[in-house]
Formats: sequence, C-alpha cells, structure tokens
Amino acid sequence: MNERPATPAGPEARGGRAPRPAPSRSAIPDEMDAWVVARPGPIGSGPLERVRLPVPVPGPGEVLVEVEACGVCRTDLHLAEGDLSPRRPRTVPGHEVVGRVVASGPASERLAPGSRVGVAWLRSTCGRCRHCLRGAENLCPFSTYTGWDADGGYAGYLTVPEDYAYPLPEDVPAEKLAPLLCAGIIGYRALLRCDLPPGGRLGIYGFGGSAHLTAQVALAQGATVHVLTRSARARELARTLGAASAGGDTDAPPEPLDAAILFAPVGELVPVALAALDRGGVLAVAGIHLSDIPPLNYQRHLFQERTLRSVTANTRADGRAYLDLASAHPPRVTTVPYPFDSADRALDDLAAGRFEGAAVLIEDANAHERT
Ligand SMILES: [Zn+2]
Ligand SMILES: [Zn+2]
Repeated sequence: MNERPATPAGPEARGGRAPRPAPSRSAIPDEMDAWVVARPGPIGSGPLERVRLPVPVPGPGEVLVEVEACGVCRTDLHLAEGDLSPRRPRTVPGHEVVGRVVASGPASERLAPGSRVGVAWLRSTCGRCRHCLRGAENLCPFSTYTGWDADGGYAGYLTVPEDYAYPLPEDVPAEKLAPLLCAGIIGYRALLRCDLPPGGRLGIYGFGGSAHLTAQVALAQGATVHVLTRSARARELARTLGAASAGGDTDAPPEPLDAAILFAPVGELVPVALAALDRGGVLAVAGIHLSDIPPLNYQRHLFQERTLRSVTANTRADGRAYLDLASAHPPRVTTVPYPFDSADRALDDLAAGRFEGAAVLIEDANAHERT
C-alpha cells in the first residue's frame, strides 16, 4: 500500500495560477476518516457509519485525490436509504468532490500531482459499446459511478480514473465548486434534454441544489422561468434569481410551458407538469429515482405531441460544457457548509428539507472562510 509513484508537478491549472506543490509522499497518511453506507435504510435509522479506512492506492490510469470539499447530493440520500440498491457493501458515498491530485498510479500522465480537480458521478465507461461509440456514454451498460461502484468523497481521499476527473480553477472556493459537479452538470443535461427553444418558457418543478443552478443557465440563455415548489423559502430564492413566477408545486404556471424539468423525486408531479405543457412541449425528469407515476390520461397529459423523457447521468462532454459555462458566467451558488464529521446530519437535513440550496461537506473547517 506504499507504492504511490509520484510524477513531477507541472501543467498549469486552468485558473491561470500555478498549482500548489504536491505534498511529498510521506505526507499521505496510511489511514483516513470516512463515512460508509453501513445499513441502507431510513435516514433516521442511521444508515451511515463513521469509520477509519486505509487511504486507497491509485491503480493504472488513476490518480489519488485529497478531498477539499464534497457536495451532498440527493442521490447520496437515495443510496443511504436503499432507494438505490448498493452495488457493493460499505461504500463511501459522495460524488461532488473538489480536491487535489496528490499521487498518480501507473500510466497516469494527464494530471500531475498538485492539479485541482473535480470528481463527479460518472466514474468510468467501456468506450467500446454502441452507446459509447455514438457519444452517449451516459447510457453505457458497463458504466461505473463514484460513491456507488467505488468509494466516493465522504472521506479524506479517493481515487479516480484521470480521464474522468475535471480540471478545476484555482480561484474559486471549493464550497462553491462542489455543487456544480453533479447538481450543476445533471441539471445542465436535463436542460439539454427538455429541448427548450430560444427565449422559451421553462417550468422547473422542485427547487433544490440542481434546480437553482439550472434556472440560472436557462435565465442566462434568455428563457422565461417559472418555478413550482412547495417550499416558500425556495420560491423566494427563485424570485431573487430572476424567475418570472414562483408558485406551489401543483399550481398551474401563469402561462403554458414550452418545456419543463421535474427535479422533485415525486412521481405525482409528472401528470401535473405534463398538463402544464403547451402543444409540443417536453418534460424531462432529472432525478435518478422517482416515486411511482400515477396513471396518465392520454388527452390531458400526452396528446398534442407532448413528450416525457428521463435524464440518465451525463457524458463527460456535458460536464466539460457546463463547467466551461460556469467558469465564464459564475452562477450564484447557495451553499450550506457542514463539517465533514456531520455528514449524517447533512443528509438528515436534506431529507427533511431544512435548507435551501446545496449542502457541502468541508474537509477543512476554515476552507469556506478563505473566500
Ligand atoms: Zn460503453
Ligand atoms: Zn448527484
């Protein structure tokens, strides 16, 4: 476990500032603090367990990343509660990881130690199947995911295939970057999937971490955005960000919608959102998990060429496109910092809807004060 070949620090980080020198190998400890999903079940039953684990060793093509911050995504909650079955026992969740490369595995040359990187949900694809070959690697049947198939960022360190890590700028606080890596990227793909015409009318159902970032992309592109959510505080945030209207989740928007995105994991809202679409409108369901959809009425919900679509993960091209966009037009990111040792409380608060925006675990408690 001590074989961590180092390569010389080198390439400039994208933010323009020189990367910090990598710590020497001796600075990498043998063990780290981490959270694992020990007993998937209701969040109140304590499915997460705090443990000590060996610091992982990067394999061929992988790098070892020291975690600065890790966003808390609703998918982590689905994994903790068992809505998504575990792919392996006692896995460390977390797939909105901002960190720094501290060691490289054999044949890893793209990211030198010292590089600041983001580790997101999509961890690997086969590169050879028909989906990968047609540019839809998000549909690869052999894809693997951070925090589900492999240990994620609720830990001091994690490994990632370097081809699936995103270079990140140096001059943005980790807390503000972390939510972009899933909430931002998946929301961006959902926006692509709902085919919003230029200057179109977009409905957003549910207004948490992903939705508030997606709304900003749509607004920047000239869309009229209507937010529909049961949370009064979220409606207030929506208006502050520039939404044309903000109503309750089952309210009808003030005008028919060209497109809608369902962020709330609530199947009952599918017919509600379909009924709000104009002729030819598209509803994209952004979540990885949705409660059952009630029966649809063909005339009220689908006829007039309305379309219902799912959104499955993202491609690396989506990730790069979104992070470039966010770099050019930095979004307002509403974050709620939690100390790393409060991951269980962060998930509990997410389940209970106790905060607006995105929760982020900060490895270094002082990190978010460095802005
Ligand atoms: Zn594939
Ligand atoms: Zn996520």
